[in-house]
Amino acid sequence: MQTFKLEQQSWKDVAAYLESDNRIILPIGSTEQHGAFAPLGTDTYVAKAIAEGAAQETGVLVAPPLWFGWSPHHLVKPGTISIRAEILIEVLSDTIGSLAVHGFENFVVINGHRIVNISWMQIAAERVQRTLGVKVVLFDPAYMSKEVVAKLDFGSIGHGEEIEISHMCHCHPDLIRLDEANDNPHPETPLYRLDPQDPRDTLCYVPATREGLQQVFDRTGDTITGRPSLATREKGRVYHDHLVGRLVQVLELLAGK
Ligand SMILES: [Zn+2]
Repeated sequence: MQTFKLEQQSWKDVAAYLESDNRIILPIGSTEQHGAFAPLGTDTYVAKAIAEGAAQETGVLVAPPLWFGWSPHHLVKPGTISIRAEILIEVLSDTIGSLAVHGFENFVVINGHRIVNISWMQIAAERVQRTLGVKVVLFDPAYMSKEVVAKLDFGSIGHGEEIEISHMCHCHPDLIRLDEANDNPHPETPLYRLDPQDPRDTLCYVPATREGLQQVFDRTGDTITGRPSLATREKGRVYHDHLVGRLVQVLELLAGK
């Protein structure tokens, strides 16, 4: 059986793969609240979907997804699991370190949890590149989709907004209950935004507080930012296909093609 999922291979299959390839994709997301209408695993599902789409086209192996991210603010609602960034640095370093023992050299980390996960991924990536001599590329869907997001007329990045919910409507429509979604449009912030599409994007992000998200809930009846009611399956498909195409390009570059 042809499979690209690492967990479905035997060691013998992996050894054979390593004779002709040294690339692997690591999908990383979170388990955190995404509003009353979307699953806790949203960030991991989207990272996994992009990884598997590109794996189908290229034959590159995909590691089991990491279902945990740094989500202290999302503990405001039940089911959320937040792992400290310090621990996640170690988990990612050890994952790459284990795979490097047998010859994996090129790692593409898919970040399903947006800006919150980027800082600790950068620290782990720098460390393993320096100490193990491997190559690590961070693939962030928000930054890899700027062109297509503008064309799709998506609003700003928020949380549980029309971008990631459209993506979920394409990949896992059975897990989304759009009729239960409450929109919460972004408040206007005069100085800067945290949004790759916005020229005022600053990247200077500090995770919100649990109290801050509680205030959002008290005001709107849910804990999201954005307009999920505008999500559609078709927009999700276009967005997904664009990201898979970009990931295929990244994988080809790593293969020297
Ligand atoms: Zn999310």
